[in-house]
Amino acid sequence: MINFNVPPFTGKEFEYMRQAVENEKICGDGPFTKKCSEWIEAQTGTVKCLLTTSCTHATELAALLADIKPGDEVIMPSYTFVSTANAFVLRGATPVFVDIRPDTMNMDEKLVEDAITERTRAIAPVHYAGVGCEMDTIMDIAKRHHLMVIEDAAQGIMASYKGKPLGTFGEFGCFSFHETKNFSMGEGGALLIRDEADILRAEIFREKGTDRSQYFRGQVDKYRWQDFGSSYLPSDMNAAYLYAQLELAEEITKARMDRWEEYREMLSPLAEAGRIELPYIPEECTHNAHMFYIKTKDMEERSRLIAFLKEKEILSVFHYVPLHSAPAGQKYGRFHGEDRYTTKESERILRLPMFYKLTADQVAYIADQVKAFYA
Ligand SMILES: *Cc1c(COP(=O)(O)O)cnc(C)c1O
Repeated sequence: MINFNVPPFTGKEFEYMRQAVENEKICGDGPFTKKCSEWIEAQTGTVKCLLTTSCTHATELAALLADIKPGDEVIMPSYTFVSTANAFVLRGATPVFVDIRPDTMNMDEKLVEDAITERTRAIAPVHYAGVGCEMDTIMDIAKRHHLMVIEDAAQGIMASYKGKPLGTFGEFGCFSFHETKNFSMGEGGALLIRDEADILRAEIFREKGTDRSQYFRGQVDKYRWQDFGSSYLPSDMNAAYLYAQLELAEEITKARMDRWEEYREMLSPLAEAGRIELPYIPEECTHNAHMFYIKTKDMEERSRLIAFLKEKEILSVFHYVPLHSAPAGQKYGRFHGEDRYTTKESERILRLPMFYKLTADQVAYIADQVKAFYA
């Protein structure tokens, strides 16, 4: 059976986790957390990276830092994971969904401005499949309307738009290191902070509302309750697992990109014959092969293809029931404008196996089976 996902593992993880245990520092913000944060800061050129327990929590932190309040509105796509919306709903805000572009499945930047009201406080673009949103346009709109930008870059590590890493455009960017992502620590994430002025508050929110981070740096002689907050810092054992992959980030990304290109090459005859559609990567974007998807004619064809592949021992999946059509989306959010593509395209998308140790032979086999289905 070819699984849809296998968590990334390089071989170095056990050694680093053993070191974390031997350091007798298995709580948060130990040596491996520091190494991971510094690696991400260097790789992205961001002022500050705080490792978190998930991308969900990084986004919640961003919503706290952005002072999102009840009645505020945040513009985002409906075609995304629930966490993009939940972070703001937890603060009493309303997610305002706009339609996606069918080519990249990203929020259609041309629809954002029309969704702005007096209550709009932020835009939350999601870089689907590690392919950047049209950030020039989005940042320009944000600037003109004095809105914050909080990027859901859960899938975006090692990817960029016009050479600038995803997650570094807005005030805050959020990465995920869930086991389904390119690099993993089981459960985990990171908050990227653009402006120096936000760092101290972020550290306090992340450390139960205390200035313990400053205390550990010797900047204050005792730590105290400074503000509201929660516990968003991961164990150093998890950071140790992640660090093994960050060290091999180029190699892992290259392996994924190679498989991605093989899929594209082998499936392009089907696309040229008009049977399926393949991912589109805008010229401005360098992606990270987070996922390889195809689009079938419709939902019915997709269901048949999933079943066909399963018989051939290949697990393929789809995802994201559009948030505006889900019970909580109806309760807490609203869709602005017409749903031309969100629902229709979400019903056609099919994700093929993609993970670090996927082999070229496996990709060839999977592509052959997809072709056999359409033959
Ligand atoms: C994976 C993912 C998340 C959630 O990440 P966690 O680390 O599991 O909280 C959020 N948004 C998007 C787009 C994702 O793909």
